Amino acid sequence: MSQLPDPVGDAFAGPWRARHLDGATLGEDRALSADVVIVGSGAGGGVCAEILAQAGLSVLLVEEGPLRTSRDFNMLEREAYPALYQESAGRKTVDEGVGILQGRAVGGSTLVNWCSSFRTPAATLAHWRDVHGLAEFTPEVLAPWFERMETRLSVAPWSVPPNRHNGLLAEGAARLGLAPKVIPRNVKGCWNLGYCGMGCPTNAKQSMLVTTIPAAMAAGATLLSRVRAEALLHDGSRVQGLRAHPVDAFGQVRRGVTLTLRARHVVVAAGAIGSPALLLRSRVPDPYGTLGARTFLHPVLLSAATFAEAVNPFAGAPQSIYVDDYLWPSDGSLGFKLEVPPVHPLIAAVVMGDFGTRHQEFMAGLAHSHIVLALVRDGFSPDSPGGRVVLDGYGDPRLDYPLNATFWQAARRAWQAMAEIQFAAGAGSVMPVHLDARPMAAGSAAEAQLARLPLKTGRARVVSAHVMGGCAMSPEPRGGVTRPDGCHHQLEGLSVADGSLLPTSLGVNPQLTLYALAARLATGLAASLRQGGR
Ligand SMILES: Cc1cc2nc3c(=O)[nH]c(=O)nc-3n(C[C@H](O)[C@H](O)[C@H](O)COP(=O)(O)OP(=O)(O)OC[C@H]3O[C@@H](n4cnc5c(N)ncnc54)[C@H](O)[C@@H]3O)c2cc1C
Repeated sequence: MSQLPDPVGDAFAGPWRARHLDGATLGEDRALSADVVIVGSGAGGGVCAEILAQAGLSVLLVEEGPLRTSRDFNMLEREAYPALYQESAGRKTVDEGVGILQGRAVGGSTLVNWCSSFRTPAATLAHWRDVHGLAEFTPEVLAPWFERMETRLSVAPWSVPPNRHNGLLAEGAARLGLAPKVIPRNVKGCWNLGYCGMGCPTNAKQSMLVTTIPAAMAAGATLLSRVRAEALLHDGSRVQGLRAHPVDAFGQVRRGVTLTLRARHVVVAAGAIGSPALLLRSRVPDPYGTLGARTFLHPVLLSAATFAEAVNPFAGAPQSIYVDDYLWPSDGSLGFKLEVPPVHPLIAAVVMGDFGTRHQEFMAGLAHSHIVLALVRDGFSPDSPGGRVVLDGYGDPRLDYPLNATFWQAARRAWQAMAEIQFAAGAGSVMPVHLDARPMAAGSAAEAQLARLPLKTGRARVVSAHVMGGCAMSPEPRGGVTRPDGCHHQLEGLSVADGSLLPTSLGVNPQLTLYALAARLATGLAASLRQGGR
């Protein structure tokens, strides 16, 4: 347990105690009411909670994960993944082709993310305007919202030298004439530890746990942790609230106990798998079949290199350099953005997925490993349709996201680009993270091996930490689930405010886009509710 100050934990143990209900301790049915119920306490839910509570509205913030604060963050993977991630960090698409990381705790994915903070690219906004009719989202209109959230969350370019892992990406890219750039991060007084993915033990990361949620609590909000929103209460035209169940200490939903939450307005911000799932369970009107469709992942390919020097890819700020030279190819093919991920032993062992001696050798050499990721910009063409959120027999969400030929073509190009950068940085060998790949030395044999790799689901290791879409915004009911202001097209008293709003992926890490969108729509919602509307 960290001995450092934990002001958020202290406040929940002290002055906010009476306004925090932990579902794991709840033994009987309860009924509560408020102006607004917000489902999910991540990027979207956290921002909405602060703005709506500070506008004087009564707010119930409902989160299915536990409340964990900096005192609990001991930098141990084996404890962090089961406690803080959806499905203990083992979530996968239906055919198990993509592993998905998402948070499940107070603060949502912002509690465990890696702090990279980018504005939505102008090219993405132009595509939304031209193809999805979202003309109001111009860089100029969004600029004040970005500025507001950048100030609120202390977003600034990382100002100390990158760790060796990021430094090698910068060196290799620069030697090839590419333009590596410094990543802006949402941190204040960062200790440069590198354990952001396990919860920040120093409270430097400006996640929702230490920013907007405390502000909402200070303004009178009530937090319901370990409470899972089961279904919206509605009559086909208006939402009146929510039915929820507590979650026990092992993360299991306790359907024998029910919480009934009544509200003038429900904001759904359960993330881009959880939000479509809640709306599906609630059988909300879906006349055009858009609910859950077009869910995007920025599916990630990986390339693992070995260096003679120690890289220590687990130490230091995890992401501080990026390369976007391949993001917008002129031939219209799927582009990709390059970064490095933090590489801690447990997650590395799972993602590499190899066996026997080869696996043992990789793990023994982890300190000398260098892993680049290519995040593929999905959703920008008809041959990149994304996936669909569906429900299993228990009402739990599954994401069906088949990897198609267009994706695999991008994968081959991405492995090639990453290998070239790693060789240029001085790698002794490079290997695409694929079960049929072998370490390659520099030269033409490398290209030949890449060309031979079978492009099959399950053989290449594909992962994602960016889930987007499923309740897309559109000016027309036919084009999406929500209006551009986040309100549901068919049901009054309901809006969505999270990653599921996006009509495509972004081409950049999503958090700052989601903060800005949530700030904009919560500000509008607050004004409307205070005037008696929505
Ligand atoms: C390991 C990791 C690293 C990342 N790194 C970066 C990065 O560096 N930069 C970046 O921009 N983005 C990063 N991301 C992604 C970014 O954090 C997310 O895109 C963003 O937080 C999504 O916000 P959201 O509001 O849509 O959902 P989330 O932040 O995921 O919040 C959704 C919340 O809803 C809760 N929930 C779900 N269903 C229910 C229910 N039925 N009832 C109650 N609660 C429910 C969940 O438990 C969760 O807490 C990363 C993500 C991960 C997991």
